[in-house]
Amino acid sequence: MIILFKFFPKKYVAMAIWPFIFVKDKDIQFDKTLINHEKIHFRQQVEMLWVFFFFWYMTEFLIRLMQHKKWDKAYRSISFEKEAYTFEKDENYLKNRKFWSFRRFL
Ligand SMILES: [Zn+2]
Repeated sequence: MIILFKFFPKKYVAMAIWPFIFVKDKDIQFDKTLINHEKIHFRQQVEMLWVFFFFWYMTEFLIRLMQHKKWDKAYRSISFEKEAYTFEKDENYLKNRKFWSFRRFL
């Protein structure tokens, strides 16, 4: 379900919190690549029983931030994001994706 949410920090336009995708602008819902990216996060969240996804996401972000010292680089280095960015253009990715595939990007 797509929900309009105007209060994103700069540069961010969408966020997935299963079962909702929050978007900064309603036109974003037509961006197939971006919606696919968020759906990959849906899958990651469900297979980690939701709460562990956010715990792992934040923990990995803090580790990456210590490594890279840059917010954007840290964010892009999170395994969940690496998987989502790598396969966001592949419409069939989720059909064939194996359980916990984000681990390939750790
Ligand atoms: Zn993402």
